[in-house]
Amino acid sequence: MKWHPSPNFAPRTETIRYVIVHGTWMDDDASALQRLCDTQAEVSCHYMITYDAETIQLVKDDDVAWHAGKSQWGDLESLNKHSIGIEISYQGEASNEPYLEAQYEALEALLTDLLHRHRIPPENVLGHSDIAPHRKDDPGRHFDWARLERKGLAAPWVPSDLEPIEAIRAKGYRGDDKEILMAFQRRYLPNYVTGELCPITAAFIKGEPEAEMPTS
Ligand SMILES: [Zn+2]
Repeated sequence: MKWHPSPNFAPRTETIRYVIVHGTWMDDDASALQRLCDTQAEVSCHYMITYDAETIQLVKDDDVAWHAGKSQWGDLESLNKHSIGIEISYQGEASNEPYLEAQYEALEALLTDLLHRHRIPPENVLGHSDIAPHRKDDPGRHFDWARLERKGLAAPWVPSDLEPIEAIRAKGYRGDDKEILMAFQRRYLPNYVTGELCPITAAFIKGEPEAEMPTS
């Protein structure tokens, strides 16, 4: 694997329990790499998967990279210290472009290795929007989580009898109702990203059969 060290990291003091998936929201790899290594920007990640599907390591797993920013999941705050961050080169949700097949293949190889080495369960593979719903929408609704679920590299939603918003909070989402609904929909119902508790979303949360919609 290519090594392109970033100066933006800190010593790790906590166990690695999560993997956070990001999209770069940048048009080219060089700009993203430059920013992830810029001491002024104070951002970084452990791995970046380029538009050419090359996997580059910027920070050692044993160190904390600065990819999640202000974030929360369940009782945890500041997920950086508990996680590995993967950036995938991508123009942004508004581009309406898919992530590339070769990028998924690179990501799947990387996740298979990380989950095995650090004993991370698939349910702890999250998107940036899951842990920072008030300010982040990456990797975005065009990222194919269902594909990762089929390969055991992310976990499908487990239906809940709780009230829908309660169920989303019980999963770990933190924020106001509209923010967490939107993050939830980006993750599980990418064709219905409205931030509203529509009948499809409510049925999906409860696991009612009519909610089994195609996810792409
Ligand atoms: Zn991000």
